[in-house]
Amino acid sequence: MKRNWNSSTICVQGGYIPGNGETRTLPIYQSTTFKYDTSEELAKLFDLAEDGHIYTRISNPTCSMVEKKIAELEGGVGAMLTSSGQAASLISVFNIASAGDNFVMMSNLYGGTTNLFLVTMKRMGIEARVATSDMSDDEICSLFDERTRCFFGETIANPSLEVFDFDRFVPIAHSMGVPVIIDNTFATPVLCRPFSFGADIVVHSTTKYMDGHATVVGGCIVDGGSFDWEKDGRYPELSEPDESYHGVVYTKNFGKAAYITKARTQLMRDLGSTPQPISAFLLNLGLETLDVRIRRHSENALKVAEYLKSRPDIIETVSYPGLADDSEHERAGKYLLDGMASGVVSFCIKGGRENAMKFMDSLKLAAIVTHVADARTCVLNPASTTHRQLSDEMLRKAGIEPGFVRFSVGIEDVRDIISDIEEALKACR
Ligand SMILES: *Cc1c(COP(=O)(O)O)cnc(C)c1O
Repeated sequence: MKRNWNSSTICVQGGYIPGNGETRTLPIYQSTTFKYDTSEELAKLFDLAEDGHIYTRISNPTCSMVEKKIAELEGGVGAMLTSSGQAASLISVFNIASAGDNFVMMSNLYGGTTNLFLVTMKRMGIEARVATSDMSDDEICSLFDERTRCFFGETIANPSLEVFDFDRFVPIAHSMGVPVIIDNTFATPVLCRPFSFGADIVVHSTTKYMDGHATVVGGCIVDGGSFDWEKDGRYPELSEPDESYHGVVYTKNFGKAAYITKARTQLMRDLGSTPQPISAFLLNLGLETLDVRIRRHSENALKVAEYLKSRPDIIETVSYPGLADDSEHERAGKYLLDGMASGVVSFCIKGGRENAMKFMDSLKLAAIVTHVADARTCVLNPASTTHRQLSDEMLRKAGIEPGFVRFSVGIEDVRDIISDIEEALKACR
């Protein structure tokens, strides 16, 4: 069906279009398997000669409809849901890299992704090479060689909140012959559509703003369909016969959707990090209100950041790309819808770890949780939780000030959020 809907309409109605007399809301196909009349029909599915569902580990109608919605939101040719954001990141790279290959990652990725890439994937024989935004173009180019398979970055990095410089990094990666994979979790496709800035593959932790209610862990990979996998023979797994599918050649048989088809029919089949239909249903409920929520998150977060700026007596530094004097402000204006920078604000309290803990313990509306990016305001101090074992000196080396607080602004009335902060700051003096 050819439609030309705007993003907010796709959020509400995309993916599932009911026919006459069908359920108004997305149906949950809670079934592991699917019935066929003849073995011949099923055999065609196994040969990838025809479309259809075989087994829920590989695909499921409820999941497919949510995948369609997300692909439409991002402007991609296809998408695949995964059981978590971590699974999406792993499969996005592993789909085009094998033992002996390498890839380039930005230094500011989410901690879980950094660990996956630098520690766990290394054990699979795949080496991640780290680029920082203060390196020169030549220094970054020198990280690539003929075994490099992709370049991986985050639109708005968690938690440093650096905004990915598409106009700088995309041409570098493409000139080196590799695609750009972007983790678009913090921006969501409402605030940024990475494909329109030249990225080739997008991944999400749907656990965050997409679900938005902290109900279900999940991830997604979206294929932009733009990368030429056949160009210089760098991706034989896509451009040469797959023995596990009777010699299917993904680029020949599936054209622009080669990458996402392989990710599903080969890696999801073998690794099995599948979302449940009920999880896809819950994710879809979140997606229906994503456009409204992310605007409110952004609006509230800007007001919170401005308030924190007005408290130099106790707040040392504030990072939020929406602030006019923030180092990321220019790029936020360029790549994010109306410069809206989503809901996470980072700041540093004077008095280090001790004051940061006092502040957090005194909050009443904002909850201390290991989460970000849902409807309820929440807060995390890496020094006293995720990085607890490190001394202050080791923390600084890891780029984390002891008084650093990651504050995820919810969609409550911002006056209540700010007065909660104001009261809690009194405990710090
Ligand atoms: C949380 C997060 C992930 C990991 O996602 P899970 O759903 O927790 O597995 C990846 N990238 C970013 C930017 C995240 O914030």
